[in-house]
Amino acid sequence: MAKLIFLGTSNAVPDESHDNTHMALTTEKRLLLIDCPSNPIVRLPQAGLNIFDLTDLILTHFHPDHVSGVPILLMSSWLLGRKTPLNIYGLEYTINRLEQMMDLYEWGTWPNFFPINFLRIPKMEMARVLDDVDVHISSSPVHHFVPNISVLIEIPDTGRAVVYSSDTEPCAEVVRLASGADTLIHEATGKTPGHTSAEQAGEIAQKAGVKTLVLINYYAKEKTQDQLF
Ligand SMILES: [Zn+2]
Repeated sequence: MAKLIFLGTSNAVPDESHDNTHMALTTEKRLLLIDCPSNPIVRLPQAGLNIFDLTDLILTHFHPDHVSGVPILLMSSWLLGRKTPLNIYGLEYTINRLEQMMDLYEWGTWPNFFPINFLRIPKMEMARVLDDVDVHISSSPVHHFVPNISVLIEIPDTGRAVVYSSDTEPCAEVVRLASGADTLIHEATGKTPGHTSAEQAGEIAQKAGVKTLVLINYYAKEKTQDQLF
């Protein structure tokens, strides 16, 4: 059975008990990571997941609290002897910068490095990201400081659908992507440019008609979940 596991729920400033926002999706055939802050080599086993099972990595946007763990993920996986390919998905803007970041580490000199398949997602609504028998994933652009995507996960077996907004101002693209979904996981950083408050996330959920709203990417240091507004 497919399972979505929150590995972190904090905005850009985490604390001892809240890592930066990122999540793992497990299906029968895949272990998929959505965003990669901190160190997955440590975080995945803490959640009962095996780093060698990782098949796919979706990067929503190129901000440090969403991508800074990628170099250590790649280097540690290589040092641990990984041989199997890893698929990395993102907008062209994101993947280009990721490649530039890895070039700064001179990763071309790492011998016998495992294959990486970079898959550039078109910057359009309902872009197909991944289609497999046990999971379909699509994305739509959202409104943030840098190009960013929200992600729709559909599980054909159960008919369940979940949308993750990523970092964004309230926007119609998320409403449209989440229309028909069961659950909306929406950021609640606050009513500031490039972000959304808990109240605004509630309005987005209502417009989309989802059954469940989960707030994420909040100020973990200053507020508990019931104090979000
Ligand atoms: Zn961001």
